[in-house]
Amino acid sequence: MVASFVYNASPARVVFGSGTLAGLPEEVDRLGLSRVLVVATPQQAAEAEALAVRLGGRAAGTFAEAAMHTPVEVTDRAIAAMTGRGIDGLVAVGGGSTTGLAKAIALRTDLPQIVAPTTYAGSEMTPILGETKDGRKVTLTSPKVLPEVVIYDIDLTLTLPPLMSATSGMNAIAHAVEAFYAREANPVISLLAEEGIAALARSLPVIVKSPRDVDARADALYGAWLCGICLGSVGMALHHKLCHTLGGAFDLPHAETHTAVLPHAVAYNAPAAPEAMQRVARALGVSDAATGLHDLASGLGAKMALRDLGMPEAGIDQAADLALQNQYFNPRPLEKQAVRALIRDAWAGIRPAAT
Ligand code: NAD
Repeated sequence: MVASFVYNASPARVVFGSGTLAGLPEEVDRLGLSRVLVVATPQQAAEAEALAVRLGGRAAGTFAEAAMHTPVEVTDRAIAAMTGRGIDGLVAVGGGSTTGLAKAIALRTDLPQIVAPTTYAGSEMTPILGETKDGRKVTLTSPKVLPEVVIYDIDLTLTLPPLMSATSGMNAIAHAVEAFYAREANPVISLLAEEGIAALARSLPVIVKSPRDVDARADALYGAWLCGICLGSVGMALHHKLCHTLGGAFDLPHAETHTAVLPHAVAYNAPAAPEAMQRVARALGVSDAATGLHDLASGLGAKMALRDLGMPEAGIDQAADLALQNQYFNPRPLEKQAVRALIRDAWAGIRPAAT
């Protein structure tokens, strides 16, 4: 039975396929832009240069200094470098860090963005921006940061290394898992969540063995898109809050942290969200959501222990305290000892118990 609900759609034009980036000049024209800045990380500077060349007179140049967690200093440098050049739009080619830089510039300038994602992070589908200033990450939501056009080109993901594909894919799955039990959960987003998890769960095992398998890459990118819509449409809960806290407090890598925490956050919430668990398990093709997520990720070769990502054991209590600050929605109330046990299990990387 469908009860009452609210559904928010984030308006964006999405172009999906293999070789779709070749259509970038037309997309620039479609938005009426004449001088765009191409942004990227230093590691993907060559891709950004190649794109600027392809855009010819439509490109003003590149800015390849995007960094993890969107430091405000980098955004300030980009805006200073843009001054007086008549730049009227942004093109981002890269993962969540690059999309974050484009969003941060858009927030301050209101310039339109065309994003070509190369990971499965899903940021391109959300009006959310997390920025770091003086070592503190602050998250905001604004329609100004939602990209206008997203070009999903499967070919761009073929170079994503197998292990990064695995953890980035688990990061995407985490968005869909929490969408099932979000306060704003609704039947449309739950459909996308189930389809997104299933697409990633079947494609990631193929990708880690054959990173250039185009069909599996297409499936994974499709799943990542759907999971990104989930993240952009409904609020997230304990899992995302914990990853945010742990990442900030111990400088842990984003997608890897999501991978290690997800099975334990799900085990924590399982008693309070049985229907969500059934749908996660069904999408994974297993009988239990938490162990199914653990087995998927560990089978992909991901590190399952936060201690192996650099979190000190002494940080467990600190993380539990931080997780209980600023109360937020979660299907199961936050109980100090149980949250501490969850973090300890993730720190040690054990397989959670089936529920
Ligand atoms: P990333 O963007 O930091 O990329 C990691 C590294 O991989 C970079 O050096 C990048 O250049 C490289 N890379 C990316 N794609 C590649 C490819 N196809 N081939 C070879 N190398 C490639 O990693 P990420 O996990 O995509 O993004 C993490 C960041 O995104 C975090 O800061 C996180 O907070 C943010 N994020 C934000 C949202 C949101 O909605 N605001 C959602 C998800 C993630």
